[in-house]
Amino acid sequence: MVRGVVVRDGAGTGVVWAAPTAQVLAAWPHAESWLTEAERGRAARFLRGGDRDDFVAAHALVRLCAGELAKAPATELTVTQLCADCGGPHGQPTIAERPDIHVSLAHTRGHVVAGADWARIGVDVERIRGSGAEQALIESVLAPAEAERVRAANEPAVAFVALWVLKESLVKIGELSLDRLAEVDLSGTGLVGPEPSPALGGPAAPNLDGSPNLGGFPAPGGLSGPGGSPALGGAPTWGGSPNPGGLSGPGGFPNPGGAPTSGDSPNPGRARWGGLHLGIRRDDEVMIGWAVATGG
Ligand SMILES: [Zn+2]
Repeated sequence: MVRGVVVRDGAGTGVVWAAPTAQVLAAWPHAESWLTEAERGRAARFLRGGDRDDFVAAHALVRLCAGELAKAPATELTVTQLCADCGGPHGQPTIAERPDIHVSLAHTRGHVVAGADWARIGVDVERIRGSGAEQALIESVLAPAEAERVRAANEPAVAFVALWVLKESLVKIGELSLDRLAEVDLSGTGLVGPEPSPALGGPAAPNLDGSPNLGGFPAPGGLSGPGGSPALGGAPTWGGSPNPGGLSGPGGFPNPGGAPTSGDSPNPGRARWGGLHLGIRRDDEVMIGWAVATGG
């Protein structure tokens, strides 16, 4: 089933959706025809059929996410990618028809994630098994306090990959660079604790099909997730963050305990941190992470 997660509320609500590749392609069997020639060319170059499917599903899902915000069919949206380094048809995706909508996508073997928001958004998905919480890797990408939490965790691989997807998401929105991953400390976000966060084994996000808040969502494949789904709009409203600013530099952690200030339903998969919304979700054998810049 395709799952939906609203990353924030109010006028600027965005979406992050993740699903196994096979479910996306089963729900939208013509997804490949939505892709541009450039995208199909890239897809065709994958040697493994599975990798190709992951690419197609992710590029379809990002159109569905953008279409949800744009109230437009996914088929009418063009994804363009222009690498800032080499000018190639890769790099940060944008929607040609709606440059005001920010999008991000990621895929790993058998799973895809995509997101759309009115502000810069980055998403990532990684497999938990084999993610390698090896000491050398931990020390090169984690801050000391993060490494401590990973070592103390019941499931170090889970804690490690949660931090990894969050950092990858921050890289995608330009708040972090790959060579400085260890300089940002996310240990105080409440998202990754010494014990597995309740979010990591928490209830599945609502199914897209049952939600009343997904008007205009084209579901030609007729998604049929089990059970009724809570409204996506039921996500808690975040209280005012004391630090609307951005990251405050290396190791900067302006909001210790920066867990959500909202008092109602606990929503431990998300946190507001330094002007960003961060979220993680453990879904099947993968970890999904996302970051949204609140300031645009
Ligand atoms: Zn390039």
